[in-house]
Amino acid sequence: MYDQSKQTPKRLLGAVRQHFPRTHALAAGAASFALALTMFMSTPEVEAKRLPLEVNLSSTTAVEATAGTAATHHAAAPEAEETLRAHTLKVKQGDTLSDLFERAGVSAAEMYQLLASGKEARQLAKLAPGEELTFRTDDQGALKSLELHRDRLNLEEFSRGDSGDFKYALHQRKADSYTAYRHAKIDSSLFVAGSDAGLSGNLIMEMADVFSSDIDFALDIRKGDSFSVMYEEEFLEGEKIGNGPIQAVSFTNHGKTFSAVRYVDVHGDANYYTPDGKSMRKAFIRTPVDFARISSGYNPHRLHPIFKTRRPHNGTDYAAPTGTPVYATADGRVIKSGYSKANGNYIFLQHGEHYVTRYLHLSKRRVKTGQRVKQRQVIGNVGSTGYATGPHLHYEFLVNGHHRNPATIVRKLPKAKSVPASEMARFQAQTQPLLAQLENYERPALAQRDDNSDNNTVN
Ligand SMILES: [Zn+2]
Repeated sequence: MYDQSKQTPKRLLGAVRQHFPRTHALAAGAASFALALTMFMSTPEVEAKRLPLEVNLSSTTAVEATAGTAATHHAAAPEAEETLRAHTLKVKQGDTLSDLFERAGVSAAEMYQLLASGKEARQLAKLAPGEELTFRTDDQGALKSLELHRDRLNLEEFSRGDSGDFKYALHQRKADSYTAYRHAKIDSSLFVAGSDAGLSGNLIMEMADVFSSDIDFALDIRKGDSFSVMYEEEFLEGEKIGNGPIQAVSFTNHGKTFSAVRYVDVHGDANYYTPDGKSMRKAFIRTPVDFARISSGYNPHRLHPIFKTRRPHNGTDYAAPTGTPVYATADGRVIKSGYSKANGNYIFLQHGEHYVTRYLHLSKRRVKTGQRVKQRQVIGNVGSTGYATGPHLHYEFLVNGHHRNPATIVRKLPKAKSVPASEMARFQAQTQPLLAQLENYERPALAQRDDNSDNNTVN
């Protein structure tokens, strides 16, 4: 049965690629549903061993890389009567659309005609490395259609109609998601325990982030601490393509258990809360850059490194390589995204009535004045624009217009907002089932813990 479940999606994948996806998407969906059934009808023990671990991500990547091979396939498709030549190119770092047209042997005139055909076509100018373009040309080399594979779920198609104009169609597929559960006891580090339990690095970081205002993962972790985490795994045609967010998680640190559950509020914002609806996070995260070193602290009496005069250092400097992402430390609004000789590229954020944060010397600004931002959203990148001796982020924190020390102020601030009373019933309805499911999973996991391993995995 296992072999069968592994081959079915591969065969289907081949079929779907020939003329993606309207006709075959349904069949593929049905197949993965059948696959899911075979997975879930088995006993929990068997299922636990197989579902997330046997998936091979690499087997899908080679499918659509070659040039000129799809002609016969396409000829079989009902919508194409003449023989077309297909040429698929992967976008590389630094590629422009003209480069790709040239490599595909399609004229620049046709590229301009396509670009002029609508706003979706204009988006073709913004390609990202790893995306794929399939050019289909006729015997004379004229472009009949262009397909853009943004990712495995989205395919954009520009096809020449009878009138010669390009028509746009978006073909979307939906991943199937399944709940996964992991439990582990920590022997040496959170990262080792998490990896041994089959968690990706991102999920481990995500979990640490959920508890970051309650547990200091650098200092507080003890041997014997444990965690249970429930999240979604996403599959396309039976193959794992990624993880969804953590749904519910508990962490026992030094005998004390913290639990958190994901809740999507009435505004559509997802956050983590305690089971009784209190926010898991501080209103502000402590630092706007990861893995950075404080190169100069907040100091109202500092000797300025460039001007050699006493000038207060109104913020904290974080040394980090140029390009390092800079996060908004809290939800807020961009009150200024601009450039000045001293600040270089800078961004000022307003958070509620009382707080302002400032980010200076950026190499790149990624938000515009007036825009709303979320906590941890990337707003720019570290740089050395303006008066800066090297790449670093200068970060300021103002309370009611007065500078405060960013490194210490955060501990004194309240947590982010709890679920409002008016939304409590909705919160309970959405989160109780998740917490009950986590608890259900936990019971057999705890029973098994005495067996042989400290890192049990149950699905
Ligand atoms: Zn500074």
